[in-house]
Amino acid sequence: MTRALRDQEKTGHWDLEALELALRSSMHSIGGVLLEKLMNSDVGGYGGPRIDCGQGHPAEFVEYRRKEVLTVLAGVEVERAYYYCQVCGGGVIPKDQELDIVGTCFSPGVRRLMGRVGGKDSFDQGRKDLEELAGIMVKTKAVERVSEALGEQIERTSQRERELALSGKMVSFQPAPLLYIALDGTGVPVVPRETEGRSGKDPTGKAKTREAKLGCVFTQTKVDDQGHPVRDPASTTYVGAIETAEALGRRIYAEAIRRGLTRAAKVIVIGDGAPWIWGIAEEHFPGAIQIVDLYHAREHLANLAKMVYEADSVRSKQWLAARLEELDAGEIEAVVTSLRRLRPQDRTVQDRTGKAIDYFQTNRQRMRYADFRRQGLFVGSGVVEAGCKTILGQRLKRSGMHWTVRGANAIIALRCCQMSGRWEEFWESRSVRNG
Ligand SMILES: [Zn+2]
Repeated sequence: MTRALRDQEKTGHWDLEALELALRSSMHSIGGVLLEKLMNSDVGGYGGPRIDCGQGHPAEFVEYRRKEVLTVLAGVEVERAYYYCQVCGGGVIPKDQELDIVGTCFSPGVRRLMGRVGGKDSFDQGRKDLEELAGIMVKTKAVERVSEALGEQIERTSQRERELALSGKMVSFQPAPLLYIALDGTGVPVVPRETEGRSGKDPTGKAKTREAKLGCVFTQTKVDDQGHPVRDPASTTYVGAIETAEALGRRIYAEAIRRGLTRAAKVIVIGDGAPWIWGIAEEHFPGAIQIVDLYHAREHLANLAKMVYEADSVRSKQWLAARLEELDAGEIEAVVTSLRRLRPQDRTVQDRTGKAIDYFQTNRQRMRYADFRRQGLFVGSGVVEAGCKTILGQRLKRSGMHWTVRGANAIIALRCCQMSGRWEEFWESRSVRNG
């Protein structure tokens, strides 16, 4: 700091930026000294020659041990009483538990910042941001480890929530007039060992990705002047993981309960045509209104029009326009009749047409769009698709990224927590448990 001041005196020019950073760094040092004093102002967690190890055994006091802990201010040294339990065969350090630094050299404040940047961007970018924004210097690998550990902790919390919800012990905290559950999936690039024995769309026939499933819950209270549905501001929360539909079903069910499922006037499940989505709807949300995303249905017709007729031809356009009109009106039987009349010569086109007929037949009750609109409901799954892009795509599908399922799931949990506005809540519940 003194050098920055001296330079400024010598040249007569302000270099405010250099001065700010120099001052921040010395404030941090001063703060670090104060903090270190505070942290060592007690007996270091000494509780007599013998304490309970936490598993009901006596642990003997061995000695005081020092540990360097990186805090938001500076690195500090803290002295802690170290106990040893013969039965567990491990050390017990009450002071570490008290300070929330068990098995880590990073203070909770630093870990919180690491989790914040690690959830936002690549771990290396996170490291750079930490240095620039907070003057905290750590290794990229540390950002990764801490972020993943936090994600796993969040997952354990949500596991407890799931158990409560599934055993009927969780109460919906707010009434929601219309509660939407939107589901979607997207491929996340993984390391080769995570796709062993799985076939994929790659030309080599090998899978390079695993499907991450994402579910979001949002509410709607009103429609606008034109009768279009309006999503309640900041009402969207997310859950997701690379896991089976069965597991995701329980996950989204618990989230829906937490968000007011049992007190909702209407429950709506929206998704594309993927069968797993409707499986979850049948199992966990019986009686819910099921809606196939209108835009996916439109795309099916548009693709077919291009295959059956010459692309961009007048006939192709006319045919498509007529079908879209039927679709919008929810007259799916009319769409199916028109599809049956096509009778293409080409085998591939025949095959595609047959599949389209199945798709519209199977989903016809989920495509009564005119009726849904009359009820003022959303007919698109744009919310969850945007969620797939922001929560999963922007963080996990960047070029050069290859995840383990465990690592990806930790970061998905971390991001879902942050994007659902539950990050603060997570840290509060941690300090309650520790305190
Ligand atoms: Zn023990």
